[in-house]
Amino acid sequence: MLKKSLCGLTADEITDLIKPYGFTDAHALSVVNSIYKKGISDISLFPKIPSRLRTELSNTVINGIQLPFASELSVDKSVKYLFRTESGKEFETVYIPDNKRNTVCVSTQSGCRMGCSFCVTARYGFRGNLTAGEILNQIIAMPQTRKATHVVFMGMGEPMDNLDNVLKACSIITAEWGLSISARNVTVSSVGIAPGIEKFLQCSDCNLTLSLYSPFPEERKKFIPVEEKYPVQKIIDLMRVFPVKKKRRLSIAYVMIKDLNDTDRHLESLKSITKGSDIRVNLLPYHHLPDDKKRSSSAERMQYFKHNLIVSGISASIRKSRGTDISAACGLLAAGFMH
Ligand code: SF4
Repeated sequence: MLKKSLCGLTADEITDLIKPYGFTDAHALSVVNSIYKKGISDISLFPKIPSRLRTELSNTVINGIQLPFASELSVDKSVKYLFRTESGKEFETVYIPDNKRNTVCVSTQSGCRMGCSFCVTARYGFRGNLTAGEILNQIIAMPQTRKATHVVFMGMGEPMDNLDNVLKACSIITAEWGLSISARNVTVSSVGIAPGIEKFLQCSDCNLTLSLYSPFPEERKKFIPVEEKYPVQKIIDLMRVFPVKKKRRLSIAYVMIKDLNDTDRHLESLKSITKGSDIRVNLLPYHHLPDDKKRSSSAERMQYFKHNLIVSGISASIRKSRGTDISAACGLLAAGFMH
């Protein structure tokens, strides 16, 4: 039988694990500290615990911290890391440094089953869910862990399709005894699985971003098949009325494709579905796939959208592309496994 992994357990779960051997809450805190704050990958090196506890832990659990098996550096200093789970599932993580803001983009699944037409991960297929520990390991095991200030769940996979593990990872990332990163610096992205989004909004304080692609249902279905089952308008209606805590951010990610979803008609519809709400619109350039004729909207067109949204009272910004040369940008993850 596979041994349980310490990485991915909460402080309470570790207490439950060690209490039968006569150890205390304080010992459990030393253990979580060794994993989540220090990233120590060898149980025998955990400080401030009795040697008998080290022995008991070594006999009953594994540490669960696994280093990436490969990495690739972008000219813009982003780094893509390739991980493989014990059972052989592969997935990618991207570290994106930007002055004082250093973001880790984590995967939640190996591959994905949502089938979005613009996404390389969809072409890779679905290999399986990642555990909470495997999600957390992506932050803990990279060399820049101590510098990470933000976490985004925008790597491989649809987070709402693996929600229990995502919620657990979010709670450990934001816990004071865990990675201690503020919930306002953690963003989970979804293409729109309505029941998952509703539960996420209720059970977590982390930010949510919804990938839109088109405000028109028939058009959106061609990009994002899940629109058929969960119409995005209902999700936006939920985001409009959901009572959000101060500083929690709900946003729409709008990837802009030349002549496809960047017309004035799209702009007007985007304005009408967000007007009067606190939903922010993030405009992103499109990253075309190798055999793809679609191209990103121009910088001028993106500025035009941003300006028009802002003068209509809608909070809007343009996001930069990072890591495109190493296939680490949005929609390109998994390309590393398919060369
Ligand atoms: S865009 Fe996201 S949800 Fe859609 S296939 Fe790619 S990884 Fe999955």
